[in-house]
This record gives sequence, structure tokens and C-alpha cells, in this order.
Amino acid sequence: MNADMNFRLSKQRRVILEELKKVTSHPTADEVYDMVRQTLPRISLGTVYRNLEFLCTKGLVLKLGGPGQQKRFDGNPVPHPHIRCEVCSKIVDVMEEVSVPELPEGCDCGFDIHNCNIEFVGVCPECKGTAQ
Ligand SMILES: [Zn+2]
Ligand SMILES: [Zn+2]
Repeated sequence: MNADMNFRLSKQRRVILEELKKVTSHPTADEVYDMVRQTLPRISLGTVYRNLEFLCTKGLVLKLGGPGQQKRFDGNPVPHPHIRCEVCSKIVDVMEEVSVPELPEGCDCGFDIHNCNIEFVGVCPECKGTAQ
């Protein structure tokens, strides 16, 4: 990311990005909409969707969730591992270093590999019923 691109972000996009950076809860688009409306009461859900997609294509925001899963958004664009609850689909960050798997030589199918998304899947304390 460079300062120039930041400067050219519209106010709506800046607010969406700022709100996303405040939380580590990996909100859904609907949750982002609720957060952004505190600052921009007239914004529509469709605008929030479009701006989230835009921020993702610019690499400023990460989109999480596979096919059939609700999309969640992460204001931390630096790749980091996640743990997803398979019951409530909550996602938490793993900020400690995790060793990233490496493709054996010749197994890259000709791709330039840029990134590796690591997602651990399990059941969170709330869903296990063991939360304090
Ligand atoms: Zn859960
Ligand atoms: Zn994250």
C-alpha cells in the first residue's frame, strides 16, 4: 500500500477501512454496515458491499470464507493464520509465527506463489459450552 492510494480513497472507503481496522472480529458485510452507519448514517448496504469488494481488490482488506460460507472481512491485510469455528463461523487471528507449508520443488504447476492462506477449523469455547 502506498500513501498516494490512501489519499485517493473516497470518504466512504476511508471510513469503512478505519472501522475495519478497529476490530479483530472479522465482521460480515452486514456487521461492517452497522459499524459504518454510526459515522455515515445515509450509506446503503449495497455501497458498503461494493466498497468492501473494492478494498479487497486493492489488497487493503482481506476477504475470508470459502464457497458457501458467509464472507467475513479483515482490516489487517498482512497474511496471517486464522482459526474458524465450524459451529458459529467465528474467526480469530493467530498472530504468532506459524510455519508455512512449502510446496515441494516442481509442484507449483507453473504458478508464481504469492501467499498461502492458513485456516485452522475447530469448535470455539462458547460453542463447546466451556466459556467462562
Ligand atoms: Zn463457535
Ligand atoms: Zn485476521
